[in-house]
Amino acid sequence: MHIAIVGAGQAGAALAAKLRALGHTGPVTLIGAEPAAPYQRPPLSKAYLLGEMPLERLMLRAPEFWQAQDIRLMTGAAVSSLDPVARTLRVGDEVLRWDQLALTTGAHVRRLPAAMGGNLPGVHYVRTLADVDGMAPEFVAGRRVLIVGGGYIGLEAAAVAAKKGLHVTLIEAAPRILQRVAALETSDWFRALHTRHGVQIIEGVALSGLTGQGLVSGADLADGRHIPCDFAIVGVGILPETALAEAAGIALDNGIATDEQGRTSAPGIWAAGDCASFPHGAGRLRLESVPNAIDMAECVAGNMLGAGKPYAPKPWFWSDQYDVKLQIAGLNTGYTRVVVRDGGTARSHWYYAGDRLLAVDAMNDPRAFMIARRLIEAGRSADPALVADPATDLKSLMG
Ligand SMILES: Cc1cc2nc3c(=O)[nH]c(=O)nc-3n(C[C@H](O)[C@H](O)[C@H](O)COP(=O)(O)OP(=O)(O)OC[C@H]3O[C@@H](n4cnc5c(N)ncnc54)[C@H](O)[C@@H]3O)c2cc1C
Repeated sequence: MHIAIVGAGQAGAALAAKLRALGHTGPVTLIGAEPAAPYQRPPLSKAYLLGEMPLERLMLRAPEFWQAQDIRLMTGAAVSSLDPVARTLRVGDEVLRWDQLALTTGAHVRRLPAAMGGNLPGVHYVRTLADVDGMAPEFVAGRRVLIVGGGYIGLEAAAVAAKKGLHVTLIEAAPRILQRVAALETSDWFRALHTRHGVQIIEGVALSGLTGQGLVSGADLADGRHIPCDFAIVGVGILPETALAEAAGIALDNGIATDEQGRTSAPGIWAAGDCASFPHGAGRLRLESVPNAIDMAECVAGNMLGAGKPYAPKPWFWSDQYDVKLQIAGLNTGYTRVVVRDGGTARSHWYYAGDRLLAVDAMNDPRAFMIARRLIEAGRSADPALVADPATDLKSLMG
């Protein structure tokens, strides 16, 4: 049985490796559009951009791994079409026949329209190694960078730029940074962190457009302000990469729609990672994180071999900014209140719906993260009054 995997990122690499670990001996082909072998993206906006992580350490596997596992890795190879009935795909001039196929095509950045200066030279986006290699030479002390978007990517880029001695202005159209993903308390905490490092944060003001003659040189804001800059970074979200699936007639619903096992609407075709939405509660969920990419891919690998197991996500995430490690456990959707546990340098924000613990943002507090994660994964809660008291030994919450 030939299994083909389209998209050689975090999910595709995990899926291919898991097929072998589970004992699949038939041919496996892992096809990626990017020139590089599978690599991890998180350091792109953190240690790698800072220049503190060499390229080899970005790679998910040593170069010899793929050959040793008898996985055919095709890089620089964009799949242009697939035929779910004939069970073929086209890559360059080659037509490959597959028995089962996984789509792990990830996501692409949301770009600013050209009319807003989104294509001006000096405007950078953050998704691929090539993107980051392209922007790294711009990070020279004393230069001015304008960052559009106050989500994790924008804030991480701001932290790197500030650490490298650049003048950083970050603009966010929503009333506060991290509004889409975090509570007011977390936004406030990160705003204060960045302000202490000299980053100017402008919230609640939309960008009218990036401006410049031949090269970006500033931004016009909706309130009439003009912010001059030497280069710009846009981090305004991503869109699931669904073009191939859509053209093949596969059902979409905020990404490639899968059932609970990761099957798409086309027989023999599966999906995992950033590109895939799966049933969750009464609706569907699509997660954009490394843990989800790996866990869903590994679950799908098993199911391709007949395991028949539903994917049960255990959401967690992290972000590094300056000397702060943020770790998030759970999903905060539907929270009604936030309990703050202030232990000085270690701090955590606990999200509750009534008395039910949903999620935690832990800043330099790995213990709070670990215990909250265990509680959430076990479907348990923790008394908010005890959580709020820094004198409570968190371990006692495990009962
Ligand atoms: C800068 C940055 C920082 C991040 N930081 C964190 C973090 O701190 N923590 C965290 O949990 N997550 C983080 N993420 C998110 C995380 O990297 C993604 O969730 C993860 O990479 C998703 O894996 P994936 O395999 O689904 O998609 P990807 O890793 O995007 O891989 C998809 C691959 O498919 C390829 N592809 C698409 N279409 C085709 C085609 N037609 N033919 C061939 N190949 C194709 C693409 O080129 C791409 O290489 C970060 C992401 C970025 C960009």
